[in-house]
Amino acid sequence: MKKTPFVTKAQIEKIAETYPTPFHIYDEKGIRENAKALYEAFAWNPGYKEYFAVKATPNPFLMQILKEYGCGSDCSSMAELVLSEAAGITGTDIMFSSNDTPLEEFAYCEKLGGIINLDDITHIEAVEKSVGYLPKTMSCRYNPGGYFKMSNGIMDNPGDSKYGMTETQIVEAFRIMKEKGVENFGIHAFLASNTVTNEYYPLLAKVLFELAVKLKKETGAHITFINLSGGIGIPYTPEQEPNDIRVIGEGVRRVYEEVLVPAGMGDVALYTELGRYMTGPYGALVTRAIHEKHIHKEYIGTDACAANLMRPAVYGSYHHITVLGKENEPCDHVYDVTGSLCENCDKFAVDRKLPKIEKGDYLFIHDTGAHGHSMGYNYNGKLRSAEILLKEDGEAVLIRRAETLKDYFATFDCFEIGEKLRG
Ligand SMILES: *Cc1c(COP(=O)(O)O)cnc(C)c1O
Repeated sequence: MKKTPFVTKAQIEKIAETYPTPFHIYDEKGIRENAKALYEAFAWNPGYKEYFAVKATPNPFLMQILKEYGCGSDCSSMAELVLSEAAGITGTDIMFSSNDTPLEEFAYCEKLGGIINLDDITHIEAVEKSVGYLPKTMSCRYNPGGYFKMSNGIMDNPGDSKYGMTETQIVEAFRIMKEKGVENFGIHAFLASNTVTNEYYPLLAKVLFELAVKLKKETGAHITFINLSGGIGIPYTPEQEPNDIRVIGEGVRRVYEEVLVPAGMGDVALYTELGRYMTGPYGALVTRAIHEKHIHKEYIGTDACAANLMRPAVYGSYHHITVLGKENEPCDHVYDVTGSLCENCDKFAVDRKLPKIEKGDYLFIHDTGAHGHSMGYNYNGKLRSAEILLKEDGEAVLIRRAETLKDYFATFDCFEIGEKLRG
């Protein structure tokens, strides 16, 4: 599918007068329409709820937009819990799907009334120690091991993943927790990431629904929800076909009616913890070409770097690039588009066919709305960029300012040299 920016060059030129590049910009309209469509696709399940995976884009302004549609938040750290609280998302609107969890975080989750999703059977004790008791509602994360295969060849390798409990452990965990007074149970699994196929959720649902039936039979536990977690992907390349959320919703419904309803479990609520799917396509990194370099290859140097978007450098991920204002020009040049880190992997694109780029051109790097700004870091003393929300009415508002050197040096503030560094 042709990839088109959600802003024009003229809009970006105007925004850049106030907020210099680089910055991440988010499309409010796109986020809203997508959230609405997700809820429509699962409307057949009365208890359905999306817990937005906060780590994808931990910005309270975006979390609040999603909240309007009924989304809660999926957290896995103290900062994410605090962020949810600040955004007005508390109680059972919080799902705490952490792993290797510091004990004080269980306590904070319980203080907010969130649902704890245990990554391991030994965490039952950890929660008791941290919270002082076991909350009435508890969830467990499942890891079936082996390979998870789909018909198009996409697969993932749960057998090699650090998350979740084995089936035997989850049965045991349910027994123990039931004995200790837990009344409502949930199960959760995340078996494949960034799946661009309508098949993943229905396949995962079958695994979890069958497990739920078994758990109910063997332990008598009252299972109130099943959490399909994240993993619905987005088409990063123009060749990929986007997922159809209605088809996915219907696929899950078929399995629900086939497995859960006959087992007398037609009242189980379905939850999701989508991150990438919720915001990924509705964000972009806007950067300017500041250098061109002709050596053994042709290079375009930008004013951004992997510290603003690390996916290409770390995973070799493809992010489509549009040169704003040159949307209809032929892609008859081949460039490596680079950032400024002293790391050769700092390239947003390698051997990419693009229109001729001039210094000063704005590059729109697509699909940075999830796992983009949030994965930012400070290597080489590079600063994290601003985040801007393009409102539905076309107004651009700052939703997180860019870091300054003062921010970067702030942790020296207890030393004498901190004075000098902060100026
Ligand atoms: C990262 C994560 C998600 C979201 O994953 P996406 O690929 O962004 O959909 C959901 N749940 C858990 C537990 C995660 O760690």
